[in-house]
Order: sequence, then structure tokens, then C-alpha cells
Amino acid sequence: MKSQSTSLFAERNFDLSKSYAKSLDQQDVLSKFRDEFYVKEGYIYLDGNSLGLCSKRAEKSLLHALEDWKQFGIDGWTEGDHPWFYLSEKLGNKMAPLVGAQENEVVVTGSTTSNLHQLLATFYRPEGKRTKIIADELNFPSDIYALQSHLQLHGLDPESHLMKIRSRDGRTITQEDIMGAMTEEIALLVLPTVLYRSGQLLDIQRITSHAHELGMIVGFDACHSIGAIPHEFHSWNVDFAYWCTYKYLNSGPGAVGALFVHEKHFSRQPGLAGWFGSDKQKQFDMEHTFTPAPHAGGMQIGTPHILSMSPLIGSLEMFHEATIQRIRAKSLHITSYLMYLIQHELQGFGFHIGNPLEDERRGGHVCLEHDEAARICKSLKAKGIIPDFRAPNVIRLAPVSLYTSYGEVFDAVQCLKQVMMDKEYEEYENKREVIA
Ligand SMILES: *Cc1c(COP(=O)(O)O)cnc(C)c1O
Repeated sequence: MKSQSTSLFAERNFDLSKSYAKSLDQQDVLSKFRDEFYVKEGYIYLDGNSLGLCSKRAEKSLLHALEDWKQFGIDGWTEGDHPWFYLSEKLGNKMAPLVGAQENEVVVTGSTTSNLHQLLATFYRPEGKRTKIIADELNFPSDIYALQSHLQLHGLDPESHLMKIRSRDGRTITQEDIMGAMTEEIALLVLPTVLYRSGQLLDIQRITSHAHELGMIVGFDACHSIGAIPHEFHSWNVDFAYWCTYKYLNSGPGAVGALFVHEKHFSRQPGLAGWFGSDKQKQFDMEHTFTPAPHAGGMQIGTPHILSMSPLIGSLEMFHEATIQRIRAKSLHITSYLMYLIQHELQGFGFHIGNPLEDERRGGHVCLEHDEAARICKSLKAKGIIPDFRAPNVIRLAPVSLYTSYGEVFDAVQCLKQVMMDKEYEEYENKREVIA
């Protein structure tokens, strides 16, 4: 591997021994949370950035919702510890501290993609010369599809109206290129907080304030930062944001997502109206005139998916106890330790660390690049190490603050070293599976 500023790790005084990893686990103020998760014996799970592990508290709150259904039937909407009628707003309030929002600026609803559709329908207003949208060429495809479809709904050609910021190195986008893309023709800018492949963390505050100077609306996809990194969406003046809850927030496959709308936009009419966006006092008047809730809750459409939302009740409790500041501190430290081990133990095997190395510029996972990445992942999986593969050449490794130990990171790197030394990966095809 090319030498990548080893000095960045010097100040953390890491060393290469297993006993050192053990000592880090003993000092880890978050280590007690590990017991709350179903961590499978004999496996090291490093894919919490795709699907977080199940916790006992998430399980308990899901079972509790089922119990309420058995117990109350229709009255579950207003009875029990967590009446369903108010749950989306209540969980939004509880999630607000994770994104630096005021309580009623967040609501738990929809999915990442459907929330983006709602927010585009609400905020994308092409007018005169100001018709274009800025995105980036490294963004997650679903976000791009949503942007393209809204341009088409307005009769505009995505080829000429979706301005995708180019990446110079195929991994990251530069602040300069983001700023450079902003012109008077741009109506809206939608970027990820953290890029899903390389893990680059963008300067949300600077991007937002510059875009506002030029009169744009600014939205962020926070899928890869929610639950891993603190945000200040309200004070940074971000117009809207959206994210899922099944990655770092550990709420289960297909769990209900969430969105943020800055309070200055509370008077906006939701682009896609539905009765669950109603002012709660009015909803059951069953009038044909829609009166939206005067807060983020107005963005809801239909009946909330209570069973897919309930695990979040238990999961969020842990985030409150752990605090997002301590979660971020451990995440930076443990990913830094992982990079240190990679640099020292995997030299000469053709790896490259693709994420930015500086703390201020990286998210919660390490992006390890290798030409044989697909089959190296298969080989690791066969040995009980669970990474994830992103075509064409990325192995994403996410040690998650609430449940990954330093000892596991140590063992995972040793295992990877063995795979490389014995060329075990050559037993597999270098091709991705249906789900990678
Ligand atoms: C995970 C992820 C999605 C997934 O969208 P869903 O609607 O939840 O399927 C979208 N965008 C980004 C950037 C993601 O990381």
C-alpha cells in the first residue's frame, strides 16, 4: 500500500498487539452497550452501515407494539404506552437531538426514497431561469432516480437539468467543485452528508450557507451519518434532510425512515398531501379540505407503519444514554485504529484506503479498495467476518460504536491478513452476488 500520512495516527499512540486492543476495550465507555445487541457468536459484524444489528431493546419495543395490538385492537391508536396516532411525531421529537433539530422539525415516516420524493414535490419549484438541480455523480442511485423523475414531471430533461458534480478521483468530491457548480440557474441542491462508498463527510454548514447566498434550497441525505455523527441542521439552516433508520440506528430491515424540515418552511404546503399529514385536531373531521400540520409532521402521507417503526422506540433510548457525541468520539477512534492496523499489517497486498483520513472529513466506515475486493469479501464472509462489497473495488468496514469491540477489529485485520497471505480469496469468483 502507498504510504498515506501515517503521522495522522501518531497522536493516538496505537500499537499492534492484541493486549493493546484488549486494553482499549477496557477503557471503552460505551462497551456496556454491546451486551444489548444480538452479536452472533463466532462472527465479526462490520456491516452496520448497511443494516444495523438487532438489539434487545428494539426487539422488546416491537413485541410491545404487538402486545398493544392484541390488547387494544383499534384503541391502540390512542391507548397504551405509545399510542400509535402520535408515534411518528413522538419518535421525531426523540430523534431531533441526533440531527440538531427542534422537536417538531423531525418526523418519522416513509423511506429514504419516498421522503425525498415528498421533499422534492414540496421544495423543487423551477421558475424562470432557475430550474436546475445539483447532485453528485457518486450519489446513491435511488436519490438520483428520484431527482430525475421530478425533473421529468416538470417536463425538464434530466440530461441538461441535473448537474452532477464530478469526482476528480472517483472517490470524493471537492468543496471547490461543489461551490463551482452553484449558479443562478440552480433551484435546488441535494447532496449526501456522507458519501456511501468512500465515506467522505461533506462540510454541510459551508455548502448550505454558500448555496443560500445564491438563492438555492438545500437538502441533505443523511443515511450514512444518522446515528454515527452529530448534525446541527437547524442552526446550519439546512432547508430539509431525510434518512433511513436501519443502518446506524439499528431499527431493522425496512424500518421507517425520517425527515427534517426547517421551521422557517412550516407554512409550505406539502407537495404530496395525505390525511396523516393533517393537523391532528382536524384529521378526523374527514373534511375534503386539507389542513396540514404546521410542522414536519405535515409531510406524512398515509397511515404510519407501526410495526416497522416500533423497534426505533427501544433503539433510540440507547442513543440518548450513549449520546451522539460519545458515539462519534468512539467511531473516530476505532476507525482510526482500524486504518492504523490496515497500514501496518496489510502492507504489500495491494490495498488502498479510499476514505479521507482526516477526522473532519470522514464518516463512520472505512473504505478499503482492492482489485479483488469482491472475492476478498466472499473469503472473509466464509471465515465469519461480515464486511460489505460495493462494486467495483470497495470493501466497506464499519466498526459500530455501540457494538463493535477493538478486539474484533484486531481479529478482523488478522483474518484479512491471513486471507491475503494464503491467497484464500482465489477460491472464489471476483463477482458480486445479487445483493452486495
Ligand atoms: C441506504 C440509502 C438509501 C436507501 O433508500 P431506501 O428508500 O431506504 O431504500 C438511499 N440513499 C442513500 C444515500 C442510502 O445510503
